[in-house]
Amino acid sequence: MKTHPLQLYLTKENPLDLSIGDWHRWCQDKGLPKFTGNQIIQWIYQKNQLDPSHFTNLPLKVREALTHSFSWEIFTIEAHLISQDLSEKFLLKTADGLLIEMVLMPYENRLTLCISSQVGCRMGCTFCQTGKMGFKRNLTSGEIIGQILFANQRLRREGKDRTVTNVVFMGMGEPLDNYEAVVKACSMMIEPQGLGLSKSRVTISTSGLVPEIRNLGKELPVRLAISLHTAVEEERSKMMPINRKYSLKTLKEALLEYPAPARTGITFEYVMIQGENDTIAHAKALVKYVHGLKASVNLIPINHFPGIDMEPSDAERIRQFQLYLSERSIPAPVRYSRGQDISGGCGQLAAKNEEELNIDPRQLHAQRRQLNRTSQTTPLQSYT
Ligand code: SF4
Repeated sequence: MKTHPLQLYLTKENPLDLSIGDWHRWCQDKGLPKFTGNQIIQWIYQKNQLDPSHFTNLPLKVREALTHSFSWEIFTIEAHLISQDLSEKFLLKTADGLLIEMVLMPYENRLTLCISSQVGCRMGCTFCQTGKMGFKRNLTSGEIIGQILFANQRLRREGKDRTVTNVVFMGMGEPLDNYEAVVKACSMMIEPQGLGLSKSRVTISTSGLVPEIRNLGKELPVRLAISLHTAVEEERSKMMPINRKYSLKTLKEALLEYPAPARTGITFEYVMIQGENDTIAHAKALVKYVHGLKASVNLIPINHFPGIDMEPSDAERIRQFQLYLSERSIPAPVRYSRGQDISGGCGQLAAKNEEELNIDPRQLHAQRRQLNRTSQTTPLQSYT
């Protein structure tokens, strides 16, 4: 078995990396009954408790063994920003000092958490800030599911009587490029002994790794979202290098076979970039591409960030594009990234922090003050 880079830094294991079977084996090795393993799992995932000294129905020697054998602090908070739309963005520091992002998005009837699967990303999409950061490492399954437990703990500490109901893999990283850890984490999300979420409430968003999409369909068919952004083959290869390996045609074949839920089908994400992918000819190509699939398309005006020469499509272009799709019975809501005023787009807060690392502390302080002011005053537009 390959050593995960994180293990080089840590002497103690992340308890969230253990599956249900692993906990049973851990108990067996210590001469404890399987039942104790179930109690530990219940404390962690159902009672949302990450301090073994509070596992009150376990004997003291077991609580001590848990405390000493594992590292229970999975993340520390590097930054926390609250948007005008009440989205909360967390910049979390891993045990080996790397930064990842997660965004908590409250809606009336659900609480969605957008999580990361990697530190950085190696897919290199031209319009994406995470892509520009490059790749540092995969997150472990424990760090992936740990983001949900972390969010639930925050909610409890703030006296909110809510827990995360929906999970979307739309933070940093290409989830299917970290397939094993992502599937292991998803299993714990939907496992009744784990977080007990329904499969339809877990969405993996991918740039289109075809073999992994096929495997996911057989192994754990959670909801699928495809970062599409254009249905024109040559253009997509320029915007998203993965398209040179798995063409739109190959991707479509895999999508036709994916056991997507009949009600929701497959969601396509489409960033709208002025003059790049937003003409009626592009809309036509898109309609043709999704033909035969139960599909909806999220139109997302691109979030401008420093270092890219791309602007969001103007409102009229977006309206025309949307109209073209909806007249052909393809739902196409326009979605502005939640938390735009707090760098809500994929990878933006971590990228911002990376830039900060190289600047004068006085300048950094001034920038942070500016960031906080912006997050309190900038209203967000939304069509939804
Ligand atoms: S859009 Fe997704 S897959 Fe592409 S570089 Fe960004 S994080 Fe990676």
